[in-house]
Amino acid sequence: MPDQPTLVKCLVWDLDNTLWQGTLLEDAEVRLSDAIRQVVVTLDSRGILQSVASKNDPDLALARLEELGIAEYFVLPKIGWGPKSESVRQLADQLKFAQGTIAFIDDQPTERAEVNFHAPQVRCYSAEQALTLVDLPEFSPKTVTVDSRRRRAMYQASFRREAEQATFTGPDEEFLRSLELVMRIGRATGEELSRVEELTLRTSQMNATGVHYSDATLRGLLADPDHEVLVTTLADRFGPHGAVGVLLLEKHPALWHLKLLATSCRVVSFGAGAAILNWLTDQASRADVHLVADFRRTERNRMMEIAYRFAGYSDEPCGCLTALVPAGLDDLQRLHLVPAPQSAPTTMRLTAPDLAANHAVPRPSPAR
Ligand SMILES: [Zn+2]
Repeated sequence: MPDQPTLVKCLVWDLDNTLWQGTLLEDAEVRLSDAIRQVVVTLDSRGILQSVASKNDPDLALARLEELGIAEYFVLPKIGWGPKSESVRQLADQLKFAQGTIAFIDDQPTERAEVNFHAPQVRCYSAEQALTLVDLPEFSPKTVTVDSRRRRAMYQASFRREAEQATFTGPDEEFLRSLELVMRIGRATGEELSRVEELTLRTSQMNATGVHYSDATLRGLLADPDHEVLVTTLADRFGPHGAVGVLLLEKHPALWHLKLLATSCRVVSFGAGAAILNWLTDQASRADVHLVADFRRTERNRMMEIAYRFAGYSDEPCGCLTALVPAGLDDLQRLHLVPAPQSAPTTMRLTAPDLAANHAVPRPSPAR
């Protein structure tokens, strides 16, 4: 079976005689066919972002998109008189997408050639191909999750959030509080597991072990009483961020073994990783167990090592480690922590299950 081609993460549309029929500044009317509208809606539902690169009057073109009822489908539209390669390049930068994940569709061979010359990794399509895009493998993700269907809304919320951050002058903690962040850590359900798999695939730099746990493996551990599979979601007053973290924990009598911790790089600046580790430390402290975290250094997960060290994990030996079978991988480190009680986060509201309550060793509650 051939490998799946790199998926397109954003399709950039030309307007005149590509998205719609006619030339806005010359013709009395431009028309959007039902078939093209359906392509836009279908790609959106698959989590593929769409934008515009058009040489046109920006006010008139945006007004026409509004009248046609499809303006909301396009993020960061580029409408003006500059070269389209520049519009595509800017868009890739703003979205933080590699150019190889951007596609461009235009009826003019010259425009496609110009984009191809300056941004050769961008895949170009002629207007005649518009109706066939939805059938191409590069526009057909294997799985479509709750988060893919909401991807455009999440990006639009993040643009509003960034605009607000740029105008906010207070210290960072104050800004974070103004976001009204709500973090929810929950035991994974079957449906959430597909989101988790997408997360562990997409966030390699924040995966502490660099070991990929497949959907099937995690699904198999859901019913195992010795394992906890936990999914973290984050929302703020601008909207949901979706699933942003996953933990796999194996519970032994005297220690909890953190086998997987992956968090989305989108939410690093909100302190999501630190909040998750902090919560886990507090839970382990109340269950009276030590924590051991698997860590394998990769070229891209330095942030995760910093997060562990900051939370107090170290290489110091401890008797509890003998309960674990030796690590199968040579370069796998076991970081250790004797947990102490932690206070609740000050920059977000956190809801989470009480892992300590289910642990075998009950502890007296502190006097008030
Ligand atoms: Zn220990």
